[in-house]
Amino acid sequence: MNTVLALLVDLDKCIGCYNCLIGCHIWNKVAENDRVEIVILDPVKIDGLLKADCFPLMTHNCDLCYSKQKPLCIDFCPTQALISGDNKELVTLLNSGRRLIVAKADKQLTDLGKKG
Ligand code: SF4
Ligand code: SF4
Repeated sequence: MNTVLALLVDLDKCIGCYNCLIGCHIWNKVAENDRVEIVILDPVKIDGLLKADCFPLMTHNCDLCYSKQKPLCIDFCPTQALISGDNKELVTLLNSGRRLIVAKADKQLTDLGKKG
């Protein structure tokens, strides 16, 4: 049974390289933008330096690689920006103050996050 309920992205690690998109495209034999889209925001100043945040957002077609037991795109990320785990780990991370966003979550994690 797949226990992965979400994929988080560390905004301080994602470099917008598209590897996760390409990995999903190749391994799941789907069109390139079928399950992942890369978002690049306008630059903002962080600690005096201009930084343009970028991150993957998984579409509604992403099933967190349900049949493969783990999100395969994690293995394609060169900077270890993608994070998955069990409910407790992910909710703890989301409340840790790190610059993380949820790229994909199922309803169960969303509900847990609201309770947390
Ligand atoms: S979790 Fe799986 S289906 Fe979803 S984007 Fe990553 S590789 Fe594609
Ligand atoms: S999550 Fe990783 S693989 Fe995907 S765009 Fe960001 S750095 Fe590249």
